[in-house]
Amino acid sequence: MHAVPHSAVGPAGILLARLECVRQSGRGWTARCPAHKDRSASLSIAEGRNGCALVKCFAGCDVSDVLRALGLEMADLFPPRPVDTSPGGRASARDAWRQSGWSAALGVLARESLIVSLAARDLADGRTLGDEDRDRLLQALARIDAAREVLT
Ligand SMILES: [Zn+2]
Repeated sequence: MHAVPHSAVGPAGILLARLECVRQSGRGWTARCPAHKDRSASLSIAEGRNGCALVKCFAGCDVSDVLRALGLEMADLFPPRPVDTSPGGRASARDAWRQSGWSAALGVLARESLIVSLAARDLADGRTLGDEDRDRLLQALARIDAAREVLT
């Protein structure tokens, strides 16, 4: 593991210190997901104004799996003090979350759209997809759906 420069303290800082390939992205960060064989940075990390850390793997890992791989628990995402549940606090967390998610989501779209386009070409040529190709296609569609949720 490498020490990475970042200004986050609290839950997001604890996460970032344990992750690899951390890069600043908007008001958040992207990193390699520790819960699956991540060749790119599928993990998005953001910090809400209330101090809680927001984590999402765009390849579809559960947050609990990501945390387990880092030796952390759900409770580690939250600061010890009460969270800011005011509308302003929630909106700020949502904005930070979306900005860091955009970069990860775009990476997902770039990779997964290639899978879909290869499959589409096979189907257009009258070929049928094998089970493995079909499973991979469905996985690509699910990942694209998750990415689209962030981008729209
Ligand atoms: Zn993952």
